[in-house]
Amino acid sequence: MSEEQPKTELERKAREWLKERGVTLNDIGELVYYLQSPYHDTLTMESCLLNVDKVLSKREVQNAVLTGIQLDVLAEEKKLESPLQETIDTDEGLYGVDEIIALSIVNVYGSIGFTNYGYIDKQKPGILKDLNDKSSGKCHTFLDDIVGAIAASASSRLAHSAANDEELD
Ligand SMILES: [Mg+2]
Repeated sequence: MSEEQPKTELERKAREWLKERGVTLNDIGELVYYLQSPYHDTLTMESCLLNVDKVLSKREVQNAVLTGIQLDVLAEEKKLESPLQETIDTDEGLYGVDEIIALSIVNVYGSIGFTNYGYIDKQKPGILKDLNDKSSGKCHTFLDDIVGAIAASASSRLAHSAANDEELD
């Protein structure tokens, strides 16, 4: 497995919280594979995971992960003030701040990321379907968008590096 060692406390915490909320790197890697396999004949799961790792090493991404998950957890514990508590707990359609946080992740990797994010958000394959299952009793209002955005960004990164052989950060 190509997992990198976290370089900072922020990164360590972001990775830990994703895992605690039931999202593994493999789950995100599978979303990248879903998005990119139609375009790359020789795509491997290993290169999907490598790109997920690179995206997770970005500070902007780590901050989005921690902010979103914190709000999900507080909503789950009924610790937010009304009306924000109800808005986040019920994943109200017109709220939209969850998508904005996700876009702050996608933004790091350019326009292919936006297209991929929109597509995967509509299709909801794999782990995204589980996160959207409201009967679980969990609140993943922010997490589903964040996971979709990490996968979309990793796909974008993969597409760029395949096209140019360029070294992306
Ligand atoms: Mg959402």
